[in-house]
Amino acid sequence: MILTVTLNPSMDSIYFTDTFSIGAMNRCNNPVKAVGGKGINASRTAAILGSRVQAIGVLAGENGKLIQTHLETEHFDSFFLTIPGESRNAVTIMDQAKNQTEIVELGPEITDTTAKEILQKIITLTTSEKEVTTIAVCGSANTKNEQLYKNYLEEIQASLGNSIKVLTDLSGIQLKNVLTGPVKPYFIKPNIQEFSELIGQPLKQKKDVIPYLSHELLDNVPFVLISCGSLGALARVNNQLFDITIPQIEVVNPTGSGDATVGGIAYGLDQHFSIEETLRYAMACGMSNALEKKVGFVTMTNVLALKNQINIVKI
Ligand code: ADP
Repeated sequence: MILTVTLNPSMDSIYFTDTFSIGAMNRCNNPVKAVGGKGINASRTAAILGSRVQAIGVLAGENGKLIQTHLETEHFDSFFLTIPGESRNAVTIMDQAKNQTEIVELGPEITDTTAKEILQKIITLTTSEKEVTTIAVCGSANTKNEQLYKNYLEEIQASLGNSIKVLTDLSGIQLKNVLTGPVKPYFIKPNIQEFSELIGQPLKQKKDVIPYLSHELLDNVPFVLISCGSLGALARVNNQLFDITIPQIEVVNPTGSGDATVGGIAYGLDQHFSIEETLRYAMACGMSNALEKKVGFVTMTNVLALKNQINIVKI
């Protein structure tokens, strides 16, 4: 069983437009509305693949109620704490040239009290559900506490030991603090831009990343995946490096591909697949998501077909 944590869920609107002009009226006939947030997207992906998934997080205000209604139709279980404020809206505009413009609200504040309540829920659920193999902590949080996720890793290890794999899909200062803290996550998945920001190097191409796979910030993280969009990814698993290339596809909407990738990793680990098979599922999930209008959504048919077209080379 997989447990996911989303401290900033969103009500997503995706607008597909012919053109998008700043300062002009832009019409959209076919908006896609869905519930998002990295952990929720990863939950949906892993649940579609067949894992039992429990999503944990927070919701606020009228948007929170709307999100809750949507969550009740998903194929995973949810526990979302109601907190003050308003859950965020996230708007993505995709024009025909595949330019992607995003407007994302900040979301309700996560106070230390809320963070502790969620942490307690993670620990209680994992202790009572003997089948939890993997905890995926995903996405931003509107918090003044830059150590929030670092503290989570320490508390989870103190309460649950090392038997459960903790995956983090974070960026910015929270990722840096997690990596410089005493308890490392089992897995991280920065994309190339996030990794670039993390190590303070302007990385553009996949090949630019290779020398930095031994960067000290990655020390003692067993499984590092640097995703590189249409170029696939690079991975370092227990000091073995992998170059992963993927076939070209007709992209519809790549938003949430990274979240689907994390869902695929969580699924592979939960199923105790080999590292190569887990990487194949992860890449296929990212691609399957990019083939859909919906965000954080994959189809089993596409995942199974794409999985066999992933090329993994040890480097
Ligand atoms: P994020 O969504 O976190 O920015 P990426 O853009 O690197 O992450 O995408 C994650 C994975 O999704 C990639 O490694 C790849 O498997 C798949 N993917 C993303 N964009 C594309 C694309 N344009 N074409 C094919 N696959 C893609």
